[in-house]
Amino acid sequence: MVPAIHRPAQINVDLDAIRQNVQNEMKNLDSGQKMWAVVKANAYGHGAVAVANTALKAGASGLCVATLDEALQLRSYGITQTILVLGIVSERWATLANQNNISLTVGSLDWLKKAQKYLEAEDAKLKIHLGIDSGMGRIGFSEDEEFVQANEFLKNNQNFEVEGMFTHFSKADSADTSYLDYQLKRFNHLKDLLTITPKHIHLDNSAASIFKRNVKSDIVRFGIAMYGLNPSSAPNSEDLKSAIELKPALTFTSELTFVKQIHKGYGVGYGVTYKAEGDEWIGTVPVGYADGWQRSMQGLEIKVGDTYCPIVGRVCMDQFMVRLPKKMPVGTKVELISDDPSAPNFIKKVADKANTIHYEIECLLSDRLPRVYKEAKF
Ligand SMILES: *Cc1c(COP(=O)(O)O)cnc(C)c1O
Repeated sequence: MVPAIHRPAQINVDLDAIRQNVQNEMKNLDSGQKMWAVVKANAYGHGAVAVANTALKAGASGLCVATLDEALQLRSYGITQTILVLGIVSERWATLANQNNISLTVGSLDWLKKAQKYLEAEDAKLKIHLGIDSGMGRIGFSEDEEFVQANEFLKNNQNFEVEGMFTHFSKADSADTSYLDYQLKRFNHLKDLLTITPKHIHLDNSAASIFKRNVKSDIVRFGIAMYGLNPSSAPNSEDLKSAIELKPALTFTSELTFVKQIHKGYGVGYGVTYKAEGDEWIGTVPVGYADGWQRSMQGLEIKVGDTYCPIVGRVCMDQFMVRLPKKMPVGTKVELISDDPSAPNFIKKVADKANTIHYEIECLLSDRLPRVYKEAKF
């Protein structure tokens, strides 16, 4: 989708907030622990290149992404630090990854055998991280036997360098740590089977680190908290207490493009789910579900000028309507997502309204919305 630069709607990213969150987390790390900034999915909607550069300048020493293409994008912008792809990349791209000094996640012996064929042909040595499925049920080694075979395969192997071994917690954001403890036990069991020595062991996501789960890991894969958001994410639930101060980095703003008065019984939006109860002022905002602003936002209060106003009628693909307390001029500023945790349109409230988590709201903000940056102060 082309970015709509001639429309008054934008995502504002405060890179100085990213800097602060990274620097606060650097102080929270155990001694010797490193941080790799997670910038997958266009840095959770914030813009991968700008966030990656800020995080690296603020103290992160590596980056994590989801796809090989995300890693290649960062390399094309001249980023030279370690980049790990957290998802599974097809074996046929093992040499492409190696040519660009990109580290890949490996979750099976079969993958190693197939990738070796491609790497051998180029006499290449690929950096890999052994992904362990310790209970997430997603990707990685989980059976002792296959893992032991992979260990044998990798011993003295000229085509692979084992840069890391890691797992991912599925419930580090909960007050109940029993499942996390179980995952740790599974991970350590598999680690003890190894005779090769991975350079780095990394376990922490944001939650494990800022809720101080003390999982003894060389690297923290720092995602949602870098963007200033608390990972404890169940809809309509209280946040767990973070060990570091979190400064939200994103706001979403627009303007009224049309204002009119309607009268009792007049319908607003598809399906006529709203009718005026009397004389009412209605403003139109040029944003819709094609921007990631979902239909479930109907009823949410957003800020128009200095007033919170309810969204009325269904959100359309490219526009939606708000009920104004009085006549307001076209061009009045609208704030759809606030960075103030106490505001009714803070991202957590937006996520609650959509019955989802803030991660999903941010990732769905589409490429049609230009990202506008406030530079970090170093
Ligand atoms: C996305 C992801 C992270 C970051 O998680 P946050 O909750 O955003 O900190 C870390 N590790 C892996 C494997 C991931 O997929």
